[in-house]
Amino acid sequence: MSTSNSVLGAWNRYRSIPIVYRIGASFALGSIVGLIVGDPATALQPLGDLFVRLLSMIVVPIVIFTLLMGIRGLTPSKLGKIGGEVVGLYLLTSAAAVFFGLAVANLIAPGTRLTLEDGDPETQSPPPLEEVFLGIVPENPIGAMANTEILPTIFFVIVFGLALAMVAETTDSERVAAGVETIFDIAEAGAEAMFKIVWGVMEYGVIGVFALMAAVFAAAGVDAVTTFAVLIATLLLAVALHILVVHLGAIILVLVGQSPAGFLAGAKEALVTALSIRSSSGTLPVTMANADDNFHIDESVYGFSLPLGATINMDGTALYQGVAAIFAANLAGASLTIGEQVTVVAIAVLASIGAAGVPGAGLIMLTLVLTQLGLPLSVVAFVAGVDPILDRLRTMTNISGDLAVTTLVAKWNGAVDFERGSWVGDHSGAPGGVPGDD
Ligand code: ASP
Repeated sequence: MSTSNSVLGAWNRYRSIPIVYRIGASFALGSIVGLIVGDPATALQPLGDLFVRLLSMIVVPIVIFTLLMGIRGLTPSKLGKIGGEVVGLYLLTSAAAVFFGLAVANLIAPGTRLTLEDGDPETQSPPPLEEVFLGIVPENPIGAMANTEILPTIFFVIVFGLALAMVAETTDSERVAAGVETIFDIAEAGAEAMFKIVWGVMEYGVIGVFALMAAVFAAAGVDAVTTFAVLIATLLLAVALHILVVHLGAIILVLVGQSPAGFLAGAKEALVTALSIRSSSGTLPVTMANADDNFHIDESVYGFSLPLGATINMDGTALYQGVAAIFAANLAGASLTIGEQVTVVAIAVLASIGAAGVPGAGLIMLTLVLTQLGLPLSVVAFVAGVDPILDRLRTMTNISGDLAVTTLVAKWNGAVDFERGSWVGDHSGAPGGVPGDD
């Protein structure tokens, strides 16, 4: 009896620690174990993959439910306004990110002391632009959903949601009108259920993240970390500056008029998940749960802006293209003119839009940037070994950008409650406290 009581007590104490700290600790511990144990720790990979799969499992349903629920109260013109603001800000912040990448890389000059090793460049090439645009319209919506193609899924759900709203307005049949309401109600209930699943999956994340980090550091080893230390440090400094100046300073503090600490506290689960699984799409359920439970943003904004952001808004990925371009030029003993660096901004923004929110997408996009600049493609193969580390920093920055822009657009459209949640220091939305019922 007393043993079971003390076990229960320990479990309750464990559960009372906010989930993000538990995951943070396993992140650090897993990294250390991976570095010390080395190769055998790669055996833990399946435990980490399970975490990623559990999150991936809910990406499509959570996008469909929240988007449908958000559209319920929107007119096409309001949706157009929100969409325009979101896309405009996404482009602006990505361009600013490349600027930070270039500026810091020019200053630190990574790659000047390394010699390029020969290696086969990645053979995967980025998709042509017209294919990206055409791909937004699904040939078969169920196929798009089945393959977790976010953009075509968003497109179909928006068209379907707007059509449902029109049907409700114009129909003479009570039965049909009630049917429309039922579909929206189902979306609302479905979204709530998905958020419950997200927080449940995060509990497993404590084990999953430990395994992921142990496996990645076991595979990369100390060598990769030391060889590329300057490159890692350059990226780290540049993303830190970008998050500090653009996301926290310009957007949250100045334009939104809220505390950056409140923003970070509300986004912490999504940021830690992005660091751990290095996929914007995989992190999407957690990003949405943070927007809903911690930031109290309305689905009409985040239901659209976050899935879109996970696909097209990648500040960290864009920034990395700037850093990597300078790194590649230094390795090749060349230097980029100001004109070429301006070109990098344009190509890097396009590359980040085209990159999928999956691990390593930014590395593939580097092929595009280096080709345009006439720099050696073998750099891609050279840095591939350290990319699992760089990718984490990129993905975390991508998620921070999605949430910052979403908060600003929500403020502009009166779709966020600043009197609740992390804005006022209440973190009951996330587990470790009393789960919110919002
Ligand atoms: N892994 C990043 C993401 O999912 C993309 C990249 O490789 O930069 O956001």
